[in-house]
Amino acid sequence: MSEVRDVIVVGSGPAGWTAAIYTARAGLEPLVIAGALEAGGALMNTTEVENFPGWPDGILGPDLMEKLQSQAEKFGAKAVFTDATALDLTGSVKRVTTDDGVFEARTVILALGSAYRKLNVPGEEEFSGKGVSYCATCDGFFFRNQEIAVVGGGDSAATEALFLSRFGSTVHLIHRRDQLRASKVLADRIAADPKIKVHWNSKVIELKGSEALETAVLEDTVTGEKSQLPVAGLFVSIGHLPRSGVVKDQITCDHGGYILTEEPSTRTNLPGIFACGDVVDHTYRQAITAAGSGCKAALDAQNFLEEQRSHE
Ligand code: NAP
Repeated sequence: MSEVRDVIVVGSGPAGWTAAIYTARAGLEPLVIAGALEAGGALMNTTEVENFPGWPDGILGPDLMEKLQSQAEKFGAKAVFTDATALDLTGSVKRVTTDDGVFEARTVILALGSAYRKLNVPGEEEFSGKGVSYCATCDGFFFRNQEIAVVGGGDSAATEALFLSRFGSTVHLIHRRDQLRASKVLADRIAADPKIKVHWNSKVIELKGSEALETAVLEDTVTGEKSQLPVAGLFVSIGHLPRSGVVKDQITCDHGGYILTEEPSTRTNLPGIFACGDVVDHTYRQAITAAGSGCKAALDAQNFLEEQRSHE
């Protein structure tokens, strides 16, 4: 068992590291439980980030995360690269259990992020890692000069399709509606890319193959007509689900599993527990809004600690 700290931040995306920067600069020496395999959050699977203010030429997602981490560490934040497996958030001293030990703190900032949403169709699990992927930057290279599909119509799917068009012979963008949700700048780039073919009003209903993925079975959402699309790789890019599972029996969440906060603050239903980033955000889910809410959580935690001390 370690000493009781002022702040533990659970999560190491833009929200987590920003919370760490602010609490570190306030002299609170935060400990960041950064995660084992998925440290850095969703931006680790992104290529160019073009809309984070201050980077007019764009910055690679992993590079941005490295900079946020080093900024936090420069001011005294410490990180452990392990997963929080259990949290006891109810007492005045909160306890975070990890594979590398148990850590205690007076406040905990939950920056748990989100996980890939799955298609939940037959064949998805079977061919996961054998053609089905959730990360173009990780796996795109394996499908050089082959037929690739991307499922989804948001900014993520558009970004993935544009990235993959440098590898695949054709990139099939499969979207269930007749227009993209993605921003106009990305939608225009999709329309202008000769290697990207958009399949409008289409959903994947099954994935088939023998050793590896060979065919995506599509259904027209208007006519119900089925068709077979031969593909070697299929990238699922249909959004994310909040990663609140580890705390949802203690913290009040909404029907979608997003942690509820007392807006405009980041306070949760438990004293000393604050939440920020994708795990609270249905709507915006941008790196910059996550970073902004991480800042708010840090200031809220700081105020909480000051108030506690004023009563001691
Ligand atoms: P998103 O905006 O929620 O889009 C998810 C897409 O997947 C939607 O087009 C949705 O279809 C589709 N979808 C959802 N469930 C589906 C299912 N079961 N089967 C088939 N399709 C399904 O998620 P996102 O694209 O991951 O983006 C998340 C946030 O990150 C957004 O705020 C986005 O702006 C941001 N982001 C920004 C950038 C950038 O600016 N460069 C890059 C990536 C992400 P419908 O359209 O029919 O709902």
